[in-house]
Amino acid sequence: MHTQNEMYTFGTRFTDLTFKIYNMNSQDYINKEDTFGAHNYHPLPVVLAKGKGVHVWDVEGNKYFDFLSAYSAVNQGHCHPKIIDALVQQAQKLTLTSRAFYNDVLGDFEEYITKFFGYDKLLPMNTGAEADETALKLCRKWAYEKKGIEDGKAKIVVCEGNFHGRTITIISMSTDPDSYKGYGPYTPGFEVVPYNDIPALEKALEDPNVAGFLVEPIQGEAGVYVPEDGYLKKAYDICKAKNVLFIADEVQTGLARTGKMLACDHEGVRPDVLILGKALSGGVYPVSCVLADDDIMLCIKPGEHGSTYGGNPIAGKVAIAALEVLKDEKLCEKSQELGELFRSELEKINHPAKELVRGKGLLNAIVIKPHDGKTAWDFCVALKGNGLLAKPTHENIIRFAPPLVITKEQIMESIDIIKKTFSDF
Ligand code: PLP
Repeated sequence: MHTQNEMYTFGTRFTDLTFKIYNMNSQDYINKEDTFGAHNYHPLPVVLAKGKGVHVWDVEGNKYFDFLSAYSAVNQGHCHPKIIDALVQQAQKLTLTSRAFYNDVLGDFEEYITKFFGYDKLLPMNTGAEADETALKLCRKWAYEKKGIEDGKAKIVVCEGNFHGRTITIISMSTDPDSYKGYGPYTPGFEVVPYNDIPALEKALEDPNVAGFLVEPIQGEAGVYVPEDGYLKKAYDICKAKNVLFIADEVQTGLARTGKMLACDHEGVRPDVLILGKALSGGVYPVSCVLADDDIMLCIKPGEHGSTYGGNPIAGKVAIAALEVLKDEKLCEKSQELGELFRSELEKINHPAKELVRGKGLLNAIVIKPHDGKTAWDFCVALKGNGLLAKPTHENIIRFAPPLVITKEQIMESIDIIKKTFSDF
């Protein structure tokens, strides 16, 4: 037996050494997480130790295609050398100042990203949920300062099936019991309308106290629900007519994932408030942000919102590098082209367990019908056995979202794995 301190030292700082000394295998690592970690996730039984591009390797050295990309954070591929270099260079110089002082990177990041997306101002945070919270606060401030809604009365309209993160306020607007059950009392001020339903939105926006409409251009966590063409544009136009902020959560759909830089770009919609996260760092570091024009963003004054880590110099350098990679490597175009190929190949699969295929760009899903007592989870375990990692969402849906640096040949190889898994199923 080893003391907890010994295990801590070896386990976290010298994993390779631990592996050699104790000859730990995947099951040992799983047991360790199970013993010492909270049980708030149910991972697929694979323990990853290395990643490069579209591939990851487990502790036994088995190689897999990563078709989750850390929920679309790793759009630029695992350990992209340009992003890692930005991280390492900046980490050796200055890591964190807090916003009590200026740093010599944040201004460059703010200028780069506001010009990149065409907004006046950036508010940097770290995680997607924090950026969503920021957007909600910004919307309420704007409601009272600019729209003239009576203090405490502002409402934000959200969609059934939404996923915006895990904070108390965010789960207060969730319709998924797994997210909200047992965490009350909930934050008031939200009204839920069905997704992809323009008449319902129109009706909700008749209330003059509505300040914002928060929407995912494609509902990722809910199971890659793609709304009808024209939904976002119509929703945007209704918001404009009612002086309501159109707030797009592009944390998962953003940054080339759906074949355009933003999923809203498919319909030529420029959100009043844009929320980004995940791939803003290429999966290298937690970076998120909110973008808006002065009329909205300057409603928040000094001291009224912030984060110790938000806007730190590492985040700034990493995010600039991550955005440059998307542009330099033409990842929007790749995502669009290879997404079409991927879906057309999936459509060809004829198997009773395959219900339907949907998606945009390289954000896709297959809906699985239980077959011979086997579920989408069993399918993912079988995929793993064949060398491809994916994860079910909501029991019967499997999301396929590989890093966008994947090649056509690798897409075809992955299709062969999926086909083989169906025929064994
Ligand atoms: N918003 C959307 C659309 C997401 O898909 C997610 C995470 O999956 C989040 C927000 C929350 O991001 P984070 O997990 O970084 O807090």
